[in-house]
This record gives sequence, C-alpha cells and structure tokens, in this order.
Amino acid sequence: MDEIRIENLEVYAGHGVFEEENAAGQPFFVNVVLYMDTREAGLQDNLTLSTHYGEVSQFINRYLKEHTFHLIEAAAEHIAEQILLHFPLVHALDLEIKKPRAPIGLPFGSVSVKISRGWKKAYLGIGSNLGDKRKFVEEAIEKIKKNPEIRKVRTSELIVTEPYGGVKQDVFLNGAIELETLYFPEELLHFLQFVEKEAGRERKIHWGPRTLDLDILFYEKFVSDESVLTVPHPDMQNREFVLKPLAELCPYYVHPVLLKSVRQLLEELQEKSSVQKNADV
Ligand code: ATP
Ligand code: MG
Ligand code: MG
Repeated sequence: MDEIRIENLEVYAGHGVFEEENAAGQPFFVNVVLYMDTREAGLQDNLTLSTHYGEVSQFINRYLKEHTFHLIEAAAEHIAEQILLHFPLVHALDLEIKKPRAPIGLPFGSVSVKISRGWKKAYLGIGSNLGDKRKFVEEAIEKIKKNPEIRKVRTSELIVTEPYGGVKQDVFLNGAIELETLYFPEELLHFLQFVEKEAGRERKIHWGPRTLDLDILFYEKFVSDESVLTVPHPDMQNREFVLKPLAELCPYYVHPVLLKSVRQLLEELQEKSSVQKNADV
C-alpha cells in the first residue's frame, strides 16, 4: 500500500500524569504514516482523490490541544482512531507520539509510543430460528451498520435452512455479513454479543433455538484457538448454511488454516453430502 508520511509534527499540549504537565503544557512530536492508495490522485494530479496532509496535521494539532490525556498511549490511541474515522481513504496508519520533555529526572533524548491501527475486514455468520426471525436479523444488521467502528457492510441473501446439531427445533434463517471494523477481534465479539443480548438471546441449550446468533467466521487472516474466540469459526467448513451465503460475498477468500477458498469448501461439502445421500438410499 502507498504511504503519506508526516514527520515530527510539533504540537504544544498538556498530556501527562502530573497536574503541572496538564496546566503548563510541553512540546510533543508526532510521526504518522498513512496507508492508502494514491494511484488515482497521482494519475489525475487531483488532491480531492487523496488525503490532504495539511488537513491531517491541523486535525492532529487541534485534537491534541483540545483533549488532555494522562498517557501518550491514550493520546495515540484516540488520535489514531479519530484520523481513521475522519479520513476515509486512509486504510491504516502508524502513529508515534514523542515526548522529549517527559519528567524523568535523567538526561534522555525522548520517550515515545508507537502504534499501528487500521480498518480490518471481517466476515460474520448470522442466524435466527425463534419468533420474528427476519425482523431479528434485519434489526441486527441495522445496529451493525449504525456502529461508527464498523463500515462498508455488505450482506448476503437470507436463506431458510434446516436446524443443525441434532436438537429438534424450527427452521433457521441464515446469512453472512462482510464488514470493515476498527475493533480488535475480542471487541468485535463483545459488540456482537451485546447485539444478541438486545435481541433477547438466551443461551440455554447448545445449538438450541435462538432469536439471534452472530458468529465471527473470519477476521482478516487472524487465527485463534481460544475457547472464548475461535477464529476462523471451527465448524464453518461443515456447514452449508454458513458457506453458501458466505460464498456469495467472498467466493475466493482463502481460509487461513485450511488454505482453501470458500467456494472450494462449499463444493467439497456439497459433494460429501451428496455421496452421503446416495449411500443412504
Ligand atoms: P457455534 O459456535 O457452534 O455456531 P453457537 O453459535 O450456538 O454455536 P453460542 O452460544 O453463540 O454458540 O456461543 C458460545 C460461545 O462461543 C460464546 O460465548 C463465545 O465466546 C464463543 N465463541 C468462540 N468462537 C466464536 C466465534 N468465532 N464467534 C462467536 N462466538 C464464538
Ligand atoms: Mg453459531
Ligand atoms: Mg454463536
């Protein structure tokens, strides 16, 4: 990805753990690398197709002056998020805040915090088989779209599917969702659990009836086998109700563990189940 860099932007502001630091202020130096595609702006020589480094610099200056943080970690976290929210062409950034006059009481050059943040692509499975299923699913999608930490939401068709996992219950309405988010994986899970809770989700029987189920299928190429969050979803390759809507959104997305595309996983599963059906006859 192309980069726009701002180096050693000097901002006089009042961040620090001590009250004197907040009141008197001191200089901070900010380094930013903005990752974005500059191809069209370059070809057309047109600033409106790029991100204006002057505006970003003014934005950082204003934000750091108008807010007071104890930690430069917090200043970096907040300003990084604000830049990503206000400059939509910026896909990701590295941001470093240096504090050359930190109260250390020893000779030193500067202390600094450097972070990398950005919009991450994730895929979700959504399902409901209790009450007004379509309403639960549609309301959840609206809540996801309204969250400022989430953008570029695309949804598959909703399909009616038979229940999975042996519990006798009503049919499901299932779909898949593509999005970009500033949340880290666990934060995305917590938000989804909040949306489930608002839909009255109760966890009584595993794989039992539910008003709303939101599962993280993929989060970039992130892999985790923790029980609170297993990504990619550990059973997705065995579920047509997951793979079918997902293949509508991202047929060529490669599963980072199985190293097969979503379409390939779907075709293999369909083949397996037709062999199984033939064997049953
Ligand atoms: P399944 O995960 O097999 O589809 P389920 O969706 O019915 O079953 P839930 O009751 O919704 O299961 O979730 C049980 C727990 O699974 C949650 O508390 C959550 O912490 C954990 N979990 C692990 N990985 C994921 C994931 N990728 N997405 C959502 N929840 C997950
Ligand atoms: Mg589930
Ligand atoms: Mg779930």
